[in-house]
Amino acid sequence: MVEAKRVEREKKYLWQERTQVMSELAHLREAIQVQINAAPEEADAEITNRETNIILIGILERRLHHLDTALQAIERGTYGVCMRCGQPIEAERLAVRPEAILRLACQKAVEAGK
Ligand SMILES: [Zn+2]
Repeated sequence: MVEAKRVEREKKYLWQERTQVMSELAHLREAIQVQINAAPEEADAEITNRETNIILIGILERRLHHLDTALQAIERGTYGVCMRCGQPIEAERLAVRPEAILRLACQKAVEAGK
């Protein structure tokens, strides 16, 4: 089990991250709206920017989802427990990625589509 003090600290970190991701998302979504309304002569460069921003939004939305899942786990008292197998997540892994919801082995298995 992850100790309570540590969970408090991770919770704070996760909320900070979440706030930052939310503001980046708002910024990118706004940029996309501006790009849609761009003049035709600027359109080519703007389309490239727009595609980049859409990819970034996708990455940030996934990150937001991970942060939310980790925060939910904290609320449920299951933080630091792998959602796939119920084993504790490696401490070193949590230290690097506090939003991790899977053990390394399970993460790899999921990514491999098993
Ligand atoms: Zn697992």
